[in-house]
Amino acid sequence: MKNFEILVIGGGPAGITIAKILGRKKRVGVIRPEDNSMIYCAMPYVLEGLIPIEKTFKKDELITDAGANLIRDKVVSVSFDNKIVVLENGEEYQYDKLIIATGADPVIPAIENIDLKGIYTFKTQEDLKEIYQAVEQKAIKRTVIVGAGAIGIELAQALNQSKIECHLVDMAGSILPSSIDIDISKEIQDEIRHLGINLHLNSKVCALSGADTIENASLNNGENISLGNSGAIVFAIGMQANTELFKCTPLNIGEQGIVVNNKMETNIKDVYAVGDCVQFISGITGEPVFGKLATNAVPMARMLSKNLLGDDRIYKGFYNGVATKVGKYFVGATGLTEALAKNRFDIVTGYSELTTTFPIMPNAKMAKMKLITDKKSLKILGGQVVSEIPVTDKVDIITLAIQADLTVKDLTSLSYSAQPYQSFFPANNLVVACAEEILVKLKNKLKEDKCCAL
Ligand SMILES: Cc1cc2nc3c(=O)[nH]c(=O)nc-3n(C[C@H](O)[C@H](O)[C@H](O)COP(=O)(O)OP(=O)(O)OC[C@H]3O[C@@H](n4cnc5c(N)ncnc54)[C@H](O)[C@@H]3O)c2cc1C
Repeated sequence: MKNFEILVIGGGPAGITIAKILGRKKRVGVIRPEDNSMIYCAMPYVLEGLIPIEKTFKKDELITDAGANLIRDKVVSVSFDNKIVVLENGEEYQYDKLIIATGADPVIPAIENIDLKGIYTFKTQEDLKEIYQAVEQKAIKRTVIVGAGAIGIELAQALNQSKIECHLVDMAGSILPSSIDIDISKEIQDEIRHLGINLHLNSKVCALSGADTIENASLNNGENISLGNSGAIVFAIGMQANTELFKCTPLNIGEQGIVVNNKMETNIKDVYAVGDCVQFISGITGEPVFGKLATNAVPMARMLSKNLLGDDRIYKGFYNGVATKVGKYFVGATGLTEALAKNRFDIVTGYSELTTTFPIMPNAKMAKMKLITDKKSLKILGGQVVSEIPVTDKVDIITLAIQADLTVKDLTSLSYSAQPYQSFFPANNLVVACAEEILVKLKNKLKEDKCCAL
């Protein structure tokens, strides 16, 4: 039986990262069933016609050129006692250390008729191919996208771009509900409607019907979306950790995935877990959080790989910096929303709005920020950014501030750069302006309280 020093179950971003770092330093095997690992983030842009589907396929050489072995099959069982992994084809592999990187699967709601033709999720190459072919063959004229998170929004825009009537449905009262607050979401929602997408908020799909193919979706507010015989529904309502394989094993699995410590160690010796299959613990509250992201999966895998080479790093928790694009707006967020933060902290929020270049320059665009701060410690708890230029750099500054336990006072003294084409005047900066507004609010509140006390 072949033995690997490091055996990885899963060849997504987490598994590939491990192969890249450890492939030449250890005897590494990566087990993955699908023909191609995918650049999932780019899937909506295939439907939009921006890139061919082949460009979303990751090359196997990412694993093999790094010196690791790629094993194309599915793991059907693991014996932790004997350190053996069994594949669907009957082959067995022994490991010194096992890394579970099995990812997450789309949540499928328990609604009657969910198996009708024309009902999809959006994660795998098969999902993408099926929807793509239906779009190409003009077999879909009307769609319901359930879930107004980043994936649902990007998918709705892509289908809308292909001249397909789109209904974007979410049970929350605003879009991107786990990332941005209602006040920040307003103009983005207007943009969605402006694009021609029908937005149904505070609405839940409660019934599906059709003879063989989906024909009708009923919402809990009494609305009916008739799809005729050329409709499709895509559920993008979240991801759940793929832990099915370990159901009857002693591996500790929480509600949102495999339980690991800050070194990605599970409760079983020599068994680690990284990526979407893990239960994420917020670096802010210490509680489990949602939000399966490649930007979590890769750093976890990198950290573990470095530790397996002798480093002593720890994973400080999840902050869930996310970004998406809605029409002309780039939207990003990190940490806790105001709505979530309120449940645990006494908070104060600040807002800033500046132009993306010197305002006197041609094509100056808008950029807005919201920061959420703990009133007591003044620590940053979260932030949201909307702009007509990309926002990930701003989101990452806020994440770093949260990770480094910086306070709003620290942010007022951020040393920034400025240039006519790339920023507002040297006179101000989006982060500093937002932090200053919070300090002014806090001082005014202090004054008010003193007056009241007198
Ligand atoms: C449409 C879409 C858009 C996205 N956009 C973004 C984005 O913009 N930014 C971002 O940060 N994230 C984004 N994500 C999320 C990101 O793709 C995931 O967080 C990331 O892929 C997680 O990586 P992973 O390696 O943990 O798991 P996965 O990529 O899910 O890989 C899991 C691997 O495990 C394998 N596996 C599972 N079970 C077994 C088994 N029994 N035996 C062998 N192998 C098995 C799978 O086949 C797969 O190869 C997006 C996801 C989707 C679907």
